[in-house]
Amino acid sequence: MIFIQITYVLAAILFILGIRSLGSPVTARRGMNLASLGMFIAIVGTLFMPQIVTYKWIIAGLVFGTLLSLPMSLWIPMTKIPQRIALSHAGGALAACLIGVAEYYRYSSNISHLSMGIVGIEVMLGALTFTGSLIVAAKLHGTLPGHPITYKGQNIVNISLFSLMIALLGYITLYPELNLQFYILLSLAFLFGVFLVTPIGAADMPVVIAIFNAYGGLTGAVMGFMLNNRIQIITGALDGASGFILSMLMCKAMNRSVTNVLFGAFGKVEDESEKTIKRSGHKEPQSVSVEDALQFFEQAQSVIIAPGYGMAASQAHHALRAFADKLKANGVSVKYAIHPVAGRMPGHMNVLLAEANVPYTDLFDMEEINPEFPHTDIALVVGANDVTNPSARTVKSSPIYGMPILDVDKAKRVIILKRSMSPGFSGVENELFYNDHSWMLFGDAKDSLNQLAYGYKKSWG
Ligand code: NDP
Repeated sequence: MIFIQITYVLAAILFILGIRSLGSPVTARRGMNLASLGMFIAIVGTLFMPQIVTYKWIIAGLVFGTLLSLPMSLWIPMTKIPQRIALSHAGGALAACLIGVAEYYRYSSNISHLSMGIVGIEVMLGALTFTGSLIVAAKLHGTLPGHPITYKGQNIVNISLFSLMIALLGYITLYPELNLQFYILLSLAFLFGVFLVTPIGAADMPVVIAIFNAYGGLTGAVMGFMLNNRIQIITGALDGASGFILSMLMCKAMNRSVTNVLFGAFGKVEDESEKTIKRSGHKEPQSVSVEDALQFFEQAQSVIIAPGYGMAASQAHHALRAFADKLKANGVSVKYAIHPVAGRMPGHMNVLLAEANVPYTDLFDMEEINPEFPHTDIALVVGANDVTNPSARTVKSSPIYGMPILDVDKAKRVIILKRSMSPGFSGVENELFYNDHSWMLFGDAKDSLNQLAYGYKKSWG
């Protein structure tokens, strides 16, 4: 039907424009709205498909989906978005997997070799993405331990299981009438999703989410071929490609390879002791009280804020904005330095700072802001650690060697808000904390910022 084709073309255009708009914080909100409109139009078009025999189940799905997603979108806080995304991937992947099973069930007596191959890939990717995403969500939420769960010979088991699945896929493509092998493949794929993710640490989950995003997209595209549905192919391809690009970008920003993220757990466990590179000869870090820190801020003309995971953990973004506003009101230049992998998901800092209504114009990418640190009075590090660690530049044995960092150590004075001397995600001790011009303001970042904002107000009136 021409009407359906027009809605699909329109939806595809809106998806592409939506993804393009997500490239900048200024247009990101519009991008989301465009993509949502595209999805709405695609659904409306699909509802006119002549193959639909009854709307009963479609309405039931609509009601169930709305009842499930509405409270999720209203009540899940911003800090829990990574696990919510993982749950969405799990749901999408399970849907694609079940459609594959239904198609196989419908045509099993006379399914062609090609269709069998397509259904096999769809079901395999869908099933492993479903269980894998559930484990990701559980690890991020703390329901399962966040550390890598490993055992001897794990990579061999995983590779064997994967090879077995590929062999079964080839076998059922050649002999599509083999029912049992199809369901064995399905069960192994569910199992493989669990095995694939359990050895990966919680901190790497965002990369895994992006990879599963890509798998989910691929599953959707494959499903589109099976159902001969063009919009499904287009959205699946867009989803798959953007997921792969995102995972590559994140790995690049962390100076790690995808294989290292997916299969690096062994090295991680064995090298744990080496990772915390203790440097002998380090003197004690200098700690500072809120009152003394206020003295520093009272003398400062320029401040660059480097936020990190600790800002998200302590939900300090509103308090940070309040303090920054007071600094600005007193003529201090305030800028935010955004590292591409600060926090635990891409754009984590941008999302939180936008929530606190920090103007986009105050946010600067790493490449843009780094040359400004040497001329800056205070670099205020708010719960950031790895993304400020100077050893990434020089210590070749460091796990974060080569990762580009925010040059906060080049500022005239560095004030670091964190609770203790414990390392960040990489487990590497941060040399920055021991520099002569670095000052540790120990405590929860939100508490410290509230006190700073309160004290600054008092001293400036
Ligand atoms: P880090 O994980 O290096 O450090 C976070 C720091 O926050 C900790 O040292 C912790 O210190 C502090 N912290 C925790 N809670 C609080 C609190 N309530 N108040 C104050 N401080 C707190 O974070 P970064 O953002 O610097 O670096 C991100 C790391 O995550 C990088 O290694 C990156 O590679 C990795 N990563 C990032 C991804 C992304 O997409 N953004 C994806 C995957 C990995 P203390 O306990 O002493 O308070």
